[in-house]
Amino acid sequence: MRVLLIGGGGREHALAWKLAQSPKLARLIAAPGNPGIARYGDCLPLKDTAVEPLVALAARERIDLTVVGPELPLALGLADRFREARLPVFGPSAAAARLESSKVFAKDLLARHGIPTAHFQTFSEVEAARRYCRELAAPLVVKADGLAAGKGAIVCKSLDEADRALALCLEQRAFGAAGLRVVIEEFMVGEEASFFVLSDGGHALPLAAAQDHKTVFDGDEGPNTGGMGAYSPAPVIDEAMQTRVMAAIVLPTIAAMRREGVPFQGVLYVGLMITNEGPRVVEFNCRFGDPECQAILPRLDVDLLPLLGAVADGHGLPSSLPWRADSSACVVLASRGYPGAYETGHAIRGLEEAESQTGVAVFQAGTAAGDGKLVTAGGRVLGVQALGRDISEAISRVYAAVDRIHFKGMHFRKDIGRKAVGRR
Ligand code: AMP
Repeated sequence: MRVLLIGGGGREHALAWKLAQSPKLARLIAAPGNPGIARYGDCLPLKDTAVEPLVALAARERIDLTVVGPELPLALGLADRFREARLPVFGPSAAAARLESSKVFAKDLLARHGIPTAHFQTFSEVEAARRYCRELAAPLVVKADGLAAGKGAIVCKSLDEADRALALCLEQRAFGAAGLRVVIEEFMVGEEASFFVLSDGGHALPLAAAQDHKTVFDGDEGPNTGGMGAYSPAPVIDEAMQTRVMAAIVLPTIAAMRREGVPFQGVLYVGLMITNEGPRVVEFNCRFGDPECQAILPRLDVDLLPLLGAVADGHGLPSSLPWRADSSACVVLASRGYPGAYETGHAIRGLEEAESQTGVAVFQAGTAAGDGKLVTAGGRVLGVQALGRDISEAISRVYAAVDRIHFKGMHFRKDIGRKAVGRR
């Protein structure tokens, strides 16, 4: 099969790495890709949002399957355009991708179908929003409706903080049009986990669960990032909990989308809070999580390509998947300054040595090839991943590999997966 992979981050490197193991892969083209992905195929300098040029590329190259990594092209209708052109594509329509691109859409759908989530209301007017905050009482969460690069959810410990969050969204327009409507919701107490399912629009096939680390510093301190690390499996999602999540949340959501005329074809990321009353939805994403994808795919003990093809075709998904019993941990190495303004252009050393360690893979996110050497080119630069017989072994292997890598200003969390060790 000839595959076009859209995107150029660590998630897409992990997808390329896994797809390259498929005996069915004849050719891989990535747009725009990155130096890590270039090991497996050709990278073309097209933006992931360049919808029409990407459609033309897929037609010209007789692509059998296009795999879309990031959310923005999906929200822009890239998958719709591919389907119109009769080009098989892995990724939901823009209408179905509203599960991620509009918090109001997602929350209203959950409410209409009685699927457990935090109590909420939607506002575009500050005074009414402030009144609802007082009714709800702190802590509470203010969320910009639209895509805001993971920064649109503001947890408010006091009503003062809530007022500031509302002003930020509705008056200062910090998130642009994405923040002109807000969801205000109850703060849920519990343990978070990310649960992934593939859906062809009708069926839902559970993948593995993972837990990620969103804040920049150890001990869940500091500002939120795109994700500083992840591990899988997630101890909080045992078999019984997975069955419960599928029955109470995933299957009703997939059925609701289909009934409402927006079948979801792709990978659904279900952000969960496991509360005392059971699992409740925090958010949906319409694509693989980054870096959860890098932690999960190495555990998948089967060819990924036919699975993504079955999702694109709308039929042929198996009912379950084989997973390696190993645990997996992924540590993100970031540039000085990230998640704020960060430095780039520093030489990266020790990559090959890290990759040669047992059970280790290094996924590139913000890298560039300069003068024959690899340099930093983004906030999150690398995702170092390791498998181990249990989470402790995965963690010791991953940090041993991290020790081999160096670039100026490199920083990373030193407590990835520690919570899971504590639970064993
Ligand atoms: P979101 O962008 O909706 O995933 O929110 C980002 C993060 O904010 C989540 O991963 C949670 O840690 C936190 N969060 C969001 N909504 C809630 C909620 N209702 N209760 C508690 N924490 C929340």
